[in-house]
Amino acid sequence: MRKKVIAGNWKMNKTLEEGLALASEVVNIAKDEVPADVNLVMCIPYISLAAISKIAGDKVAIGAQNVYQKESGAFTGEISASMLKSVGVKYVIIGHSERREYFGETNQQLADKVNIALANGLTPLFCCGETLAQREKGIHIDFVNTQLTEGLFHLSPEDFKKVVIAYEPIWAIGTGVTASDEQAQEMHAKIREHLASKYSAAVADEISILYGGSMKPDNAKGLLACKDIDGGLIGGASLKSRDFIDIAKSY
Ligand code: PEP
Repeated sequence: MRKKVIAGNWKMNKTLEEGLALASEVVNIAKDEVPADVNLVMCIPYISLAAISKIAGDKVAIGAQNVYQKESGAFTGEISASMLKSVGVKYVIIGHSERREYFGETNQQLADKVNIALANGLTPLFCCGETLAQREKGIHIDFVNTQLTEGLFHLSPEDFKKVVIAYEPIWAIGTGVTASDEQAQEMHAKIREHLASKYSAAVADEISILYGGSMKPDNAKGLLACKDIDGGLIGGASLKSRDFIDIAKSY
C-alpha cells in the first residue's frame, strides 16, 4: 500500500512568528480533521525548522526545502542533512524546479543530495517536471524520465523505496493553471512505468508519486482520485491553513 502524502512548500514565505502562527493552526486542525492514513508534511524555511518542529506533534512532519550535498565543512551559508536531522526534520525537497532554474542545480548534484539525505535518514521529496515548451514539443516524457534516471537510478531498490517523487509540471507551478486530471494521471503512469523498467513493477508500485502545480481545495479531489497520484506538493495553498487542510481532506 503506497503512503499518501500531502506536503506543503512554503517557499521563501513567513517570518518565524508568522510561521509559528500558521503551523500551530495546521497542527490544531489536522489532528481532528485529517484522516489517519494521510501523512501531512510542512516544508518550511530553514530559520523556522527548529522552533516549528517542537510544536508539530505526531500528525505533521517537518520538511526542509533544500539540503547541501556535503556532510560538513567550509561551505558558507549551506545547511547539511545532519543539521536538519538534529532539529527534527523528516523530509527534504530535492530538485524543486525553482532550485534547478534559479540556482543551477544539476541532476548530478541532486543525486548527491539524495544520497546524503538518505544516509541521514531523511526522506527525499524528489521533484521532476517539464516546461511548457518541452510539453509542446512532445519531449516531456523523455525529459522527466532523464531527470529520474540521472537523479535517482543509481540507488539500490532498498534505498529507492525510501524516496517520494513529486511530478510538478513547471507550467502549472504558481500559475493557477493546473494539469487536468487526465494529463496528470498520464504522466504519473508513465513515471511509474519508467520506475518499473529500472527496478520492477513491484518496486514501482510501492513508490508514492505526488502531483504539484496549483493544487487547490477545488481541484484536489479529482487529482487525488487518480490511480497513480498518491498525494500533492502544494505551494501557494499551503500558506492558508484552511486550504491546506481541505486539500488533505479531499482524499
Ligand atoms: C510548488 O512550488 O511546489 C508548487 C506546487 O506551487 P503551487 O502549488 O503554488 O503551484
